[in-house]
Amino acid sequence: MIVVLKPNITKSQENAVLKEIRKLGYEPHIMRGVARTVIGAIGDERTHHTLETLLSWPQVEAVMPVQKKYKLVSREAHPSNSIVKVRGLEIGGKKIHIMAGPCSVESEKQLINTAFAVKKAGATILRGGAFKPRTSPYDFQGLGEKGLKLLARAREETGMPIITELLSEAHVDIVAEYADILQIGTRNAQNFQLLIASAKTGKPILLKRGFAMRIEEWLLAGEYILSNNNPNLMFCERGIRTFETYTRNTLDLSAVPIVKQESHCPIVVDPSQGSGRADLVIALCRGAIAVGADALLIEVHPNPTEAWSDGGQQLTPEGFTRLMHEISPIIKAVGRE
Ligand code: PEP
Ligand code: MN
Repeated sequence: MIVVLKPNITKSQENAVLKEIRKLGYEPHIMRGVARTVIGAIGDERTHHTLETLLSWPQVEAVMPVQKKYKLVSREAHPSNSIVKVRGLEIGGKKIHIMAGPCSVESEKQLINTAFAVKKAGATILRGGAFKPRTSPYDFQGLGEKGLKLLARAREETGMPIITELLSEAHVDIVAEYADILQIGTRNAQNFQLLIASAKTGKPILLKRGFAMRIEEWLLAGEYILSNNNPNLMFCERGIRTFETYTRNTLDLSAVPIVKQESHCPIVVDPSQGSGRADLVIALCRGAIAVGADALLIEVHPNPTEAWSDGGQQLTPEGFTRLMHEISPIIKAVGRE
């Protein structure tokens, strides 16, 4: 930490700051400039008490951290890319995995038809929401356990692992019993108790970015998973809220190379929630792969016009097949499979 003192303070005020820095476990190094004195407080900021309380002292002008707050998710801690294994599949390796399926599980026919269609087109993981986070309490809330059972049946019939959202701590056991990957949604991305509970299941976790979250906050949310002894973390960029109205969210593709630089964990892009528009999904997938995404999460529905949630952003199976053809040259161009 760097502590900047105000000008014209007394020697005893300066000594009090030095004493406090030592008390909190840091070694102070004084640098005297012409107008200001600056103290470098040497010590691991991530394991020592924060010096930010010094900001409330009248003789202190500024306190600045020099270390990043996240540790286990950082590339410094683990220079090579992490690979998350899901039923024999490796996410974060050479192959770009495509997770596809409906926004919500609605019926056996809807799910099984979609599952076979996306598998045929090249998807490797089936998505589907059983517990749905809806803005209005009057909207469809998901089939709950019945939806989980249908997902398990679709996995049995197609052989595809399944990803589904974990919405609440109250559902941890039941969702973990069925799911291969737990999805933590944008609205829960900083629900720290839920993050801890999901980490403790040991299941792979896909952590969406909160729609108002800075990348640093998102990385720190991921730190909750790794620091609770679960290394199987994937980040998922799904768009943030901005002033733009042409799209439902603004898909921040710049987050992909930033997370890749900062972290060893795989990064997934969800262009469906990311734009809210089926007509933009193919272009955004091409972009996501070009900037380094390890996997994509895409909503597909046999008949989007009749979907019980997110109808405007779901691709038809034909649209999804076209998407798979259109991303193929980009996948090859970036040296992936
Ligand atoms: C979803 O994937 O259907 C979903 C609700 O995601 P998000 O949390 O990103 O809105
Ligand atoms: Mn959705």
